[in-house]
Amino acid sequence: MIKLSVNKLFRYLSVFLFLNSATLPVKSSSSLAAWALKTNGVLELRTKSNTNLKAYFQKANKKYGDRFWVDFPGELKTPRSIKGNGPIKEIRLGKPNKGKTRLVIEFKEETYLEPLTWQIVGLDQNRWRIKLFNPKYSFKKIGEGLVEKRKEDLKTKQNSIYKKKRNYYNLKLPEVKRNKFSVVIDPGHGGPDPGAIGIGGIRETDVVVEVSKIIKKLLSEKGVKVRLTRKNEVDLDLPSRVSFANNMNADIFVSIHANASRGKRKDINGLETFYYRGWRGKLLAKRIQKQILRVSPGSPDRGVKQGRFYVIKNTRMPAVLVEIGFLTGRLDARRLEKTTHRKRLAYAIAKGILEYLNKIG
Ligand SMILES: [Zn+2]
Repeated sequence: MIKLSVNKLFRYLSVFLFLNSATLPVKSSSSLAAWALKTNGVLELRTKSNTNLKAYFQKANKKYGDRFWVDFPGELKTPRSIKGNGPIKEIRLGKPNKGKTRLVIEFKEETYLEPLTWQIVGLDQNRWRIKLFNPKYSFKKIGEGLVEKRKEDLKTKQNSIYKKKRNYYNLKLPEVKRNKFSVVIDPGHGGPDPGAIGIGGIRETDVVVEVSKIIKKLLSEKGVKVRLTRKNEVDLDLPSRVSFANNMNADIFVSIHANASRGKRKDINGLETFYYRGWRGKLLAKRIQKQILRVSPGSPDRGVKQGRFYVIKNTRMPAVLVEIGFLTGRLDARRLEKTTHRKRLAYAIAKGILEYLNKIG
């Protein structure tokens, strides 16, 4: 039997807590509050604050397979066992002796384990984790209760809002008169100028081209004539983009960009839409801003603003410049990496454009 190694934090807590746990009355309830063996082979535990844990490993014998267990102070009310899956044969919760709780994980015979490398890590005063195995095949999570911190409830809530809106982009886009309108979509930057570079090297030029192409497809399906200022990595200067739109005599001009914050601050996220002049430009900006916010829950609304960007200042039609999120922001970048989110944004922008065309057409 091996008593497991513990990391510094654990040792610190363990010494500190030993004094505390000595005063725990024998009859107190189990200090194990929740546990989960996750799909990645990590066991997470939530306990009462300042709990002194002890963990053990025993090689298989005639009766049992390899077993890992953790002892907690406080007595378990109802001993029970839970059937395992994948490499796990069974998980048992029991009381080895009065005033104790034991969580036992029994592995199937063929499982390859490296218990000498195992470490229980204290995440904070009442949470712990230990990596037990690398799942070779899919492993279904087993657990009881919530192991996450209460603070994260907020995040869960946000996620459920997000899920509700998830099918948003399948909703029908508004109809407009067919073959009446023409729109220029301008994916910012390109060629030698990649635009903003964000977390993990994500590039503005790539994100905005993909979003723009989807917008084109969606609007074309509604009978709107759409031209992109660029379809791939070309070096296109700003005057060419403007004269392209002006020569085409487009009804509107929409430039698509993604932001970067000064100092690449990960806490700065958000969406904003600029126009240069006129109520039409402002209306278009408002419609688009409203829709992109709907598909980006939790990302701040930086508003509809007047901006003096070259492309919206020099185009002759109502023109806007949309910033679809911060590639340097933790929240936005994680989303912008994904095609599903780029699609949602494209739907949102297309919807804003169609609403606008409906209104003024
Ligand atoms: Zn840009």
